[in-house]
Amino acid sequence: MSVTIGIAASLRTFTNRVPSVEVEGRTVGEALTALADEYPEITKGLFDENGELRGFVNIFVDDRDIRLLKGLNTPVSDGAEIWLIPAISGGSGATSVISTERMKAISIEEKQIERYSNHLQLKEISIKGQKRIMAGKVLVVGLGALGGVVAERLAAAGVGTIGLADFDEVSLSNLQTQTIHSTRDLDRPKVASAKDRLKKLNPLVTTVPVQERITGDNAEEIVADYDIIVDATDRFISRYLISDACALQGKPEVFGAMYQFEGVVTVFDAQEGPCFRCLYPSPPPEGLVPTCSASGVMNALPGIIGAMMATEVLKLLTGSGEVLIGRVLTFDAWNVRYRVLETAKDPGCPVCGSHPTIGAAQDIDYEELCGLKTDPDEEPVETIEPEELARRMANEERLTIIDVREPHERAIRKFPGTVAIPIGQLARRQKELDPDIDTLFVCREGKRSILAIRTLREAGYTGPMYSLKGGLEAAVQIIFPNEGAWL
Ligand SMILES: [Zn+2]
Repeated sequence: MSVTIGIAASLRTFTNRVPSVEVEGRTVGEALTALADEYPEITKGLFDENGELRGFVNIFVDDRDIRLLKGLNTPVSDGAEIWLIPAISGGSGATSVISTERMKAISIEEKQIERYSNHLQLKEISIKGQKRIMAGKVLVVGLGALGGVVAERLAAAGVGTIGLADFDEVSLSNLQTQTIHSTRDLDRPKVASAKDRLKKLNPLVTTVPVQERITGDNAEEIVADYDIIVDATDRFISRYLISDACALQGKPEVFGAMYQFEGVVTVFDAQEGPCFRCLYPSPPPEGLVPTCSASGVMNALPGIIGAMMATEVLKLLTGSGEVLIGRVLTFDAWNVRYRVLETAKDPGCPVCGSHPTIGAAQDIDYEELCGLKTDPDEEPVETIEPEELARRMANEERLTIIDVREPHERAIRKFPGTVAIPIGQLARRQKELDPDIDTLFVCREGKRSILAIRTLREAGYTGPMYSLKGGLEAAVQIIFPNEGAWL
């Protein structure tokens, strides 16, 4: 059987950027083996050391999750399409999350009829739907590119109360994608800048700024006041926290994420479909699937994906349309491809499964969850402090420095005198290392360099290896004191 395997953008580092591969195989497992024969590096991305499929990768055959079928034994027919979609990187007819009593308590005044006339003319929304929108309380977590678009659309739509949660301040590199903030807002808290913008857009809307980081201590309290939560964050830690808090409190969550030219949108509702943990039981090791700030994002994409997220919020509020519960929409803006993939609830999910083991939203041990934590039996990875590296460089000591960042990261800031080997190519290119001298691995934050050392150990390399502690972000001021911030 000849089948096509579609590779999501964030896994293409293992396939020399090839977006789809034709292979032979009778089952999903056979097709993946054929893929791994052609691109051996992808094995590490897809399977753990026991050969089990990693929890953060979802595989779809003709748009159905193989967990709904026979897993890796799922047979494939000639011409079938298999899709590999890692976490970045759900239909159901809607019932409104706003009760009839709350809807009836809202009256639409004369001046609002004109302001909201577009929705009032739509039979799917009309007066009752607009009242439900006005009664709604929606929390937007993350006021970056996606959250900004969602907040603006919801304010203009007339959503009664919009919670704005972010702990960060506006920086210059935000402005190309985060159009809720302006140049004059530089260094202001994002919640303050967003609040001002929404007030100008629609003074009838109440905004509630929450200028703090979502943690295990405050997550459930913060989401408790709202009907719908929008997760527009770009860290896995907050995604698990927000999803856990929503699932435990039975609240729907609209989720969106972006990677370069691609975006995904879905709605998690643990009462009707999967939660984030059902789809992604374990996160990718940090750095394997970069955040959008580390990998770049095309500036018009958040306008598309954020507007799709706002659409899901409006469907949930009005109780109209088909909500993306149990389905994930993926959109590739550059190649104009979109797909809607079916997903399933995991009966073994620790939060929303049949025997839950997590009863409260709590901070996760990220390193443990994604397998980065050192096994007590495993030899620990040795690190070098930035000051030590600066000293060794000044003394011109013999040292091979391997930069495991991706080409686009190096294009932004070069590290002269290093050998560039992206993490996916390390095992194949280990001949380039000299086992008689120290090799130092550097990356942006000091996590991928640890992964690099473990990868090479598994591949049989025995020379001395060190990781630059804290990565180039921590070292830039010490090694290159005259340069700006390291992206
Ligand atoms: Zn779940």
